[in-house]
Amino acid sequence: MTETVLTSTKHEISTAIPAIRLRGLTKSFGDTTAVGGVDLDIRQGEFFSMLGPSGSGKTTVLRLIAGFELPTAGIIELEGKDVTNTAPFERDVNTVFQDYALFPHMSLLDNVAYGLRVRGIGRKERRARAEQALERVQLSQLARRSPSQLSGGQRQRVALARALVVEPKVLLLDEPLGALDLKLRKQMQIELKDLQRSLGITFIFVTHDQEEALTMSDRIGVFNNGRLEQIGSAHEIYERPSGQFVADFVGTSNLFNSAMAERLYGRTDVFSIRPERLRLLWDAPEKQYDGGATSAGGTTFVAGTVTSLIYLGHATQVRVALDSGFTVVVLVHGDLPGSEDELHQRRVNVGWADRDAVWLPDTPSRKF
Ligand code: ADP
Ligand code: MG
Repeated sequence: MTETVLTSTKHEISTAIPAIRLRGLTKSFGDTTAVGGVDLDIRQGEFFSMLGPSGSGKTTVLRLIAGFELPTAGIIELEGKDVTNTAPFERDVNTVFQDYALFPHMSLLDNVAYGLRVRGIGRKERRARAEQALERVQLSQLARRSPSQLSGGQRQRVALARALVVEPKVLLLDEPLGALDLKLRKQMQIELKDLQRSLGITFIFVTHDQEEALTMSDRIGVFNNGRLEQIGSAHEIYERPSGQFVADFVGTSNLFNSAMAERLYGRTDVFSIRPERLRLLWDAPEKQYDGGATSAGGTTFVAGTVTSLIYLGHATQVRVALDSGFTVVVLVHGDLPGSEDELHQRRVNVGWADRDAVWLPDTPSRKF
């Protein structure tokens, strides 16, 4: 928790110990810096996602937390206890790997019970707890099957049951839904989230899929090049990206350059606006906007020409080449005022509420 209280001695203290605390966490492999100094507190019972492109260091951070790798520098605490150099089995965490890593020759029940056997738990209790874990992921009926007799989604659930059976404080999940088709993935997202909520275990969930991170997480950490660019709720990350990288990586962003910013608002920072925050005026009074831009009463309009329309089912994505020289994407819900042929090359105005402009002052201006 981030809440702080004032004690009688007027010192500020945190009211809760984080499930995981990383400080200056760094990992190099030869010349490659996979993780370049990560500071992060993950709260107890939180669903925390690490989001970032391939190669940004997410798996390495997870492996460091699990103890499969030792850091080059920095510290790792689990519930206030320094585990930076302790062995994996001495850490109260468990991992669900991307490829599930099930034992093909064992039944589901034995696969799930395995972690208990390693911990020296007796046969009877092993069995009871494994059965309970399989029940939790709705696979009790298939307990005698082997992994090869299961679908991808079922295998994923077995991997989950196997990780949960030892009742870890923290569950680490490395792209656990990556191998599933879209529909099953969506279903498993809901199941995973429900399970996490009912168990109250801290989940650290690695994904490169921004939509997955946005829908599942209490908070998200966005990785780029071994560093955390931003930490925040889905809403904060999406609505108030901290810089160009996050604005670009999470959802679609229209980036407006500093020349445009200066003309419209008299400041030279880059700003971004989401496609769904732009609106189209199909019957543009050409003279009024004069090919340039006007800003009045908190709303801004710029003139341009429609270059493409892509029907997405729930909306249409319209590209508009602005007269000022770059192209924006506008998401239009509802019916369009004509056929694609009629609207192609149509002169329009693109408008937005000025408060929807997200300023990215840390971003060097690009040439568009
Ligand atoms: P992600 O999970 O975000 O895709 P990784 O943590 O797997 O990223 O990798 C981060 C960087 O570290 C990549 O450049 C990767 O090639 C490198 N890396 C990861 N593991 C090793 C390793 N065992 N040896 C050398 N380089 C590694
Ligand atoms: Mg990875």
